[in-house]
Formats: sequence, structure tokens, C-alpha cells
Amino acid sequence: MEKQFIVIGLGRFGTSVCKELHKLGHEILAIDTNSEKISFIQNYSTQAVQANGTDERTLKALGARNFDHAVVAIGDNSQASVLCTLILKEMGVKQISVKVRDPQHQKIFEKVGADRVVQPEYDMGVRLAHHLDSEKIIDYIDISESYSIVELIASAKISNKNLLQLNIRSNYNCTVLAIKRNNEVNIAPHPNDTIQEDDILVVIGHKKDLKRFEEKVL
Ligand code: ATP
Repeated sequence: MEKQFIVIGLGRFGTSVCKELHKLGHEILAIDTNSEKISFIQNYSTQAVQANGTDERTLKALGARNFDHAVVAIGDNSQASVLCTLILKEMGVKQISVKVRDPQHQKIFEKVGADRVVQPEYDMGVRLAHHLDSEKIIDYIDISESYSIVELIASAKISNKNLLQLNIRSNYNCTVLAIKRNNEVNIAPHPNDTIQEDDILVVIGHKKDLKRFEEKVL
């Protein structure tokens, strides 16, 4: 289903959001103060406008209130990001995602109405650290303070065993969400499905249980 997005701030982050949403067939209003950024994004948006994202009148004139989603990615300037988020929220934009640099700013943005706060540099740092910590972890996503989803490479230790035999849920309190093998993804693994060495397991659980599972089993 086609959705309508406003993307404000076209640094590397905003630009990649814009290009990807465009590729996915959505309607995008792209805004930046910089004319070069606007010329570049023209081919990847429905409408590209050189404007200040903190200018309420301009946002009103552009019909910002009619958009369901907004992405605020105006870089370093957290004061401008706060103001922009506040204005969009007041106008009634339903879903606002804000890119922030400093994780300590998360609370402030939530208070002024951001529905999602993303910290790409911080999050990528965490993911890389987990990958470096264990060669078995190829990806890592936090879903809360305590729970994560990890992608792990299955070792020979569990090769040719099925999920029932491994009893991962009762032994480790973790759930295997999917098993990837070559280019195939089994998204609803059956208890009788067998794991092979080098399969990629997508597992959800408490961080300490995931660690236990990874250390004991892989
Ligand atoms: P990235 O890492 O994604 O490149 P960044 O956090 O380093 O992002 P910048 O590269 O500084 O951010 O990009 C922020 C963009 O936001 C720039 O293109 C800048 O012109 C634009 N911008 C800054 N302030 C405003 C504003 N008030 N309204 C609209 N656009 C703005």
C-alpha cells in the first residue's frame, strides 16, 4: 500500500531513507535547506522543496498535516530537530521518526512527540561490538533493555539435530524464529526441522539466555 512520507534533512541518513522509500513505491515530500541536496533528491522523491524544517508556515503551506509519517533527520542540530518534531506533532502527523546522534537525547524527543527515535551510529556500534565479541553472532538487534534478536551460525555441535531434540525453549528459554540455509529462509520452523552446520539461526530471548545458548550450544 502506498504511503505518504515527509523526510526533513537529507544528509546520508535522510537520503538513504528517501531513496529506499521511493524504491518501495511510496510518495515522498523531501525537505532540506540546502539547494544541492534538493536537486539531488529530485529523482528519488515525489516533491523536493528547499525549505527550513523549523518554519511552521512553510510546513503548513506544504500540507504537512496530510502526511501520516515524517522522518526528521536534520543532523547535529538537536534544537532544530526538537522544534521540527514539535511542529509536526502539533499539526497532527501520526508517526514521527527522529534520527538523533546522542543517545541521551532519546527521552527529550519522546517527550516532544517522536514515536521512534533512531541512533544509527550508536546502534551500529552495539551491533558491531556483539559481532566482534562472538564470531558466531552475525547480527544483533535490541528489542528492549533485556531482550534481543540474534542471528547465529550453527556449529557442528548441533548439526543434524532437530529443534525438539535440542529443546532450546525449555533448556535456554529462547525461541528459534527462523532458520536460514543458503538463500532459503524457513520462517516457521517445525519441531522436527533439522539444523545443519553453518545454518543461520534467528533466535529471540533474554540477553543472558541468548549468551548461555550461544556459549553452550554453538
Ligand atoms: P548523516 O550522518 O546522515 O550524513 P548528519 O547527522 O551528519 O547525517 P548532516 O550530514 O549534517 O547530518 O545532514 C543534515 C541535513 O539536514 C543537511 O543536508 C542539512 O542541510 C539539513 N538541515 C539542517 N538543518 C535543517 C533545517 N532546519 N531544515 C531542513 N534541513 C536542514
